[in-house]
Amino acid sequence: MSEGVRYPGVVLITGAAAGMGAGHARALAERGVHVCVADVADTAEVVAGIRDAGGAASGHALDVTDPAAWARVVDEIRAAHGALGGLVNNAGISRRLEFLDTSDEVWERVMLINLFGPFYGMKAVAELMRDSGGGSIVNISSISGQIGYFSPAYSSSKWGLTGLSKSAAGNFAKWGIRVNSVHPGLVDTALLDGADAFVQAAVRSIPAGRTARPEEITDVVLHLLSDRSTYMTGSEVTVDGGLVSNGLYHRIVTDSGGDLS
Ligand code: NAD
Repeated sequence: MSEGVRYPGVVLITGAAAGMGAGHARALAERGVHVCVADVADTAEVVAGIRDAGGAASGHALDVTDPAAWARVVDEIRAAHGALGGLVNNAGISRRLEFLDTSDEVWERVMLINLFGPFYGMKAVAELMRDSGGGSIVNISSISGQIGYFSPAYSSSKWGLTGLSKSAAGNFAKWGIRVNSVHPGLVDTALLDGADAFVQAAVRSIPAGRTARPEEITDVVLHLLSDRSTYMTGSEVTVDGGLVSNGLYHRIVTDSGGDLS
């Protein structure tokens, strides 16, 4: 356990059967947190891995687009633990489609999972968190929720989540619940599968010169869940190797071949 850093006793993570969510779950369990691993996909492997390593976890079938499923999962947590101190709204899908290629079905599906899901989730957990003495909610947005991004469904869902986080932060402050959003750049997970050309081109605009390792996002999520961030709420935390702040000039300088006169 990290010296002196305290985490909530119980944390619920959505989309935790794979990718970054599974990484967050393992990292929290290593720090003594009981992790509620929620996903539409089978969570058994992640839960077994955590238990085999000596940690505590439970698996929860959850489609984040279904408010009734959220209510059931929160009931399960209340019955088993009586408290909940953290929620990571991590479940998300990406469709890299330009405007006119975005069907109504894709638009609706992406918005439902990436934006409606966290709304339903925060509504479902707020009272249990309040009754637990407060807590920390971390919403996984994206740099696509901070800048213009070519794919309208993904970008709008993540911009929506950026705003939703700030609204929730204001609403829930009176209950000691903090709400912050995390904005990863490009991270090596299955979400980028099949996007090799896109990723290679994007890396040319990343001052750090590479994509992120999932653990580099986990470190930020851990910080926001812990008592090391008790005065942070309503914040946008960008974790992108400098892409948003410096990507444009990084590429210009690189492409100029050193001739900056
Ligand atoms: P991933 O595809 O590896 O994992 C996403 C998980 O979400 C999967 O386990 C999937 O089963 C689950 N999921 C999908 N629909 C769901 C639903 N309706 N209900 C419950 N669970 C559902 O993705 P990842 O890269 O680990 O992404 C995690 C989060 O980070 C997402 O919100 C994503 O938008 C965001 N993000 C990712 C990147 C990146 O480059 N990978 C960059 C910025 C933001």
